Amino acid sequence: MYITRQKTRQIKVGKVRIGGGAPISVQSMTTTDTRDVKTTVEQIHQLEQAGCEIIRVAVPDMEAAAALPKIKAQMTVPLISDIHFDHRLALKAAEVVDCVRINPGNIGAWRKTAEVIKAVNERGIPLRIGVNGGSLERHLLDKYGYPTAEALAESALNAVHALEDVGFTNMKVSLKASDVHLAVDAYWLFSQQSDYPLHLGITEAGTAQTGAVKSAIGIGWLLSHGIGDTLRVSLAADPVEEVRVGFEILKSLELRHRGINVIACPTCGRVEIDVIRLAAELEKRLGHIKTPLNVSVLGCVVNGIGEGKEADIGIAGGEGVGILFKKGKLLRKVPSEELMETLIQEVELLAKEKEAEEAGEEPTPSSSNAGNGAPAEKLAEPAPGQAASLGRDIPVLPQQR
Ligand code: SF4
Repeated sequence: MYITRQKTRQIKVGKVRIGGGAPISVQSMTTTDTRDVKTTVEQIHQLEQAGCEIIRVAVPDMEAAAALPKIKAQMTVPLISDIHFDHRLALKAAEVVDCVRINPGNIGAWRKTAEVIKAVNERGIPLRIGVNGGSLERHLLDKYGYPTAEALAESALNAVHALEDVGFTNMKVSLKASDVHLAVDAYWLFSQQSDYPLHLGITEAGTAQTGAVKSAIGIGWLLSHGIGDTLRVSLAADPVEEVRVGFEILKSLELRHRGINVIACPTCGRVEIDVIRLAAELEKRLGHIKTPLNVSVLGCVVNGIGEGKEADIGIAGGEGVGILFKKGKLLRKVPSEELMETLIQEVELLAKEKEAEEAGEEPTPSSSNAGNGAPAEKLAEPAPGQAASLGRDIPVLPQQR
């Protein structure tokens, strides 16, 4: 399947480009108390180690906002503050973070949003407009009766247009819901009417397994239709899992290639080696490798060697041995009890070889935020006549999806 990504504008969250054809970035959110700097930073380091490219922290009060400079000073990836209800928290956070997320459904009067825009604009950082099915504006709930995809899209479009009307364009948008259909339809509707970069997510998706499946279906559908520029998988689990699942979704769609991709057979009555244990252990012990490598673990030689030819390296089970192959060529036979350590050594070696080969070939991103926001003095409440630009027509969903 070849995916043609929708063309969106590009913004920058810290050093990470979002939209405009940039690689789809993987985000997560800490689960610690942001006021507890030490514990929060520890979790941030775990997320960074797992490959997380942007990290968001909740800022529920001024004490949490005051902790942000200390947190920011100890991390390498960009930091986003997550703000609800109190715009003063956004103003404080905007002094230090790389992006501020606000929810137009609960931030209150327009003047409060205008103050936040002015603050982020002065620092040249973007805003994330995060619409959520659980916190839509009252007038949209009255209009639609309950949170529909149309209501979510209209809420996001209204917010975008209100910011555009005062000259602000440095933003990305999310339209999250825990219902997969609702979220997918809302993102799709929005994407048909706007070219702002989209942050994808199925909110409150559930536990590690349930949430991963829901996210893979919802986010996967959108990505496979070219929609989405950055994503967060929301799991009721260790946030490191969110990062792993995020990359697995991207790897499955061949949108990103990062780290080890373990290809393992499901095993059957012909199995000669402990595929399940080997595959699980490999994923765990080789999680630190960033170089994309396909590693196959196949239970027998019946289909194993043929199926494993596409892999960079792998093993197929034989009688009391494993047959090690690299780039389709047979290397040697390895006794079963040495399989795990041998394969790990070979994969690490191959990763180093590949890294050395590719060193220095990655182009450096050259775009910047320059000119992406409005001058602070332009920011003011929309004139009464401008309100007519809100609530633009929304197309119906396609008949065949
Ligand atoms: S590779 Fe061999 S053991 Fe694995 S599922 Fe196929 S036939 Fe069965």
